[in-house]
Amino acid sequence: MTALFGGIEAGGTKFVCAVGTGPDNIRAETRFPTTTPKESIGRAIEFFRKQDEITAVGIASFGPIDPDPTSATFGHITSTPKPGWANIDLAGAIQRALGVPVGFDTDVNGSALGEWRWGAAQGLDNFIYLTIGTGVGGGGMVNGRLMHGLIHPEMGHIPLPHREGDGYNGRCPYHSDCLEGMASGPAIGERWGKPAQELPPDHPAWELEAHYLAIALHSFICALSPQRIIMGGGVMEQFHLFPLIRQKVQKRLNGYIHSPAILQEIDNYIMPPALGNMAGICGAIELARRATSR
Ligand code: ADP
Ligand code: ZN
Repeated sequence: MTALFGGIEAGGTKFVCAVGTGPDNIRAETRFPTTTPKESIGRAIEFFRKQDEITAVGIASFGPIDPDPTSATFGHITSTPKPGWANIDLAGAIQRALGVPVGFDTDVNGSALGEWRWGAAQGLDNFIYLTIGTGVGGGGMVNGRLMHGLIHPEMGHIPLPHREGDGYNGRCPYHSDCLEGMASGPAIGERWGKPAQELPPDHPAWELEAHYLAIALHSFICALSPQRIIMGGGVMEQFHLFPLIRQKVQKRLNGYIHSPAILQEIDNYIMPPALGNMAGICGAIELARRATSR
């Protein structure tokens, strides 16, 4: 009998829970809105108790989180501005209720891991996964290991030069006009007075969005030298953003980074997740598998 794993993609908007072994074998799945920790974690536990026995659970969570297994607050959501969710022991609650090992990482490292195992990052040791959604976040691998560090990267909160004539102040509660403050889905909505998904493809919003994302990618490429950049999240459902971003990145780098990946094959360098919106939940399942072999 092959071992079954549980995965939780804990988002600020919704929770996705699944049981299976990978993208081709999801035995059961449920999704529900993220409400209070008690209710949301309770629903996840209830779901797993009704399924066939699982060997471990992996959690890919919104954050900031503590992903350091040697820390006293490992498994906690830490300083999040999301009401009610600061200092919540998410992994501990799941571990105590289900009695199995629990893997825990950021939502973006989860998606990165899913893409590494089954998707667009297979065989790569250095790559990044960015999500442009309610927030902006980035994770990935350096030298074959998921990126951690002091805490974990916060690529959505890098500073960004304002484009001349852009009067929007940004909406990050900590930095106003960081990348997330300027380019998240809600920032697009607030700036243009309409939800991002309702803006037509020829709206000036998208050229400006691509401009800010290309600046961020310029920084990430120079700082981390990723072999590929995978971009997901609701905003990147606007697939016409991809060619705009690729063009602007090439233009900004100006031939400096001497790699065919950027100079000639940028369509395969900056790309959407191969697993689509399944990257996160599949990565959570892979986190569970890793937790059993730790
Ligand atoms: P979350 O980040 O909460 O997990 P999403 O990645 O779906 O969820 O991001 C939601 C944000 O993305 C919202 O701000 C929404 O306006 C925006 N969004 C969702 N779908 C689209 C779309 N098709 N086109 C543009 N923006 C979208
Ligand atoms: Zn910020």
